[in-house]
Amino acid sequence: MDTTALSKKIKEKTLELGFYACGITDCAPINSTVTHAYQTYLQEERNADMNYLNNYLSLRFNPQQLVPQAKSIIVVLASYYNNTAFFPPQNRYHLARYAWGQDYHKVIKQRLKTLQQYIVQLVPDSINRYFVDTAPVMEKHLAERAGLGWIGKNTLLVNQHGSYHFIATLFTSAVLTYDQPALSKHPCASCSLCQQACPSQALRNFGMDARKCFAYQSIENHHDIDEDFNSNTHYIYGCDECQKACPFNHNAAPAAIKEFDTNPLLLDITDEQWENIHQEDFDRIFATSAVKRIGFQKMKSNIQYAANRLYRKNNHFIQ
Ligand code: SF4
Ligand code: SF4
Repeated sequence: MDTTALSKKIKEKTLELGFYACGITDCAPINSTVTHAYQTYLQEERNADMNYLNNYLSLRFNPQQLVPQAKSIIVVLASYYNNTAFFPPQNRYHLARYAWGQDYHKVIKQRLKTLQQYIVQLVPDSINRYFVDTAPVMEKHLAERAGLGWIGKNTLLVNQHGSYHFIATLFTSAVLTYDQPALSKHPCASCSLCQQACPSQALRNFGMDARKCFAYQSIENHHDIDEDFNSNTHYIYGCDECQKACPFNHNAAPAAIKEFDTNPLLLDITDEQWENIHQEDFDRIFATSAVKRIGFQKMKSNIQYAANRLYRKNNHFIQ
């Protein structure tokens, strides 16, 4: 089978598996503008205490080193956008949308395993490895290179269907047809809605300061959120404000993977129940969710932080 036909069959298979877009790129190094920006980000300590981002820079910048036999990188996008009215107006506490369904690591890995098996059927001696947040892979930049969108001022991969998607990669020794980045004029050039929407001014130019980002504070920061951290937020896990503000998300691709449907246990929880949540509730509600990774104590602490902010706000301590 020629590379064009093979690439087409693989892309068709990814759609069948529930991904909404697939692009293919080569294994060339990440371009120097990107690697320079990444190193500046680390030097300025905008990665907060996510020290793992300092590791394996050579692998991160040179995908070929990660899988030496690879000839192509298949990049897939899985939408997690669904229209469930998760938070009725009387509820105050929010979770980032990506956490409404099941843990994407497991869900996407299952599908990539199927894709890997399919590629082996087509190319029996091929070597294939897939990654879902499990290796130093610069997914957003590989996705951009594979024609799947651009890096927005919210620092996420954005395309005509917005940014409510997970990105995953499969490196293969199969020789495929590469896609090209599509942009001429950057769609974010005359827009800054995401930056304006950020409650804690974490976004600057095309960069992010994790120390100021509530998503970092509520998930990656293993300590309690400092009461001085200034975020007028109703979130207790993650944050979607910069995504909600993005006009491209008005045309979000609906999630085709049923495991990303909203967990029904989340639908009826009142604020009072969140505030009185017990370990058993946490374990039951988040049994199949990525949220369980932060642990019960961190969730309690996040709820306390949000409760304090709301209380102070409602009493006019916060303008
Ligand atoms: S996730 Fe929230 S806090 Fe972080 S940059 Fe976006 S809007 Fe700001
Ligand atoms: S809100 Fe505007 S600037 Fe931000 S990512 Fe979307 S299009 Fe780009």
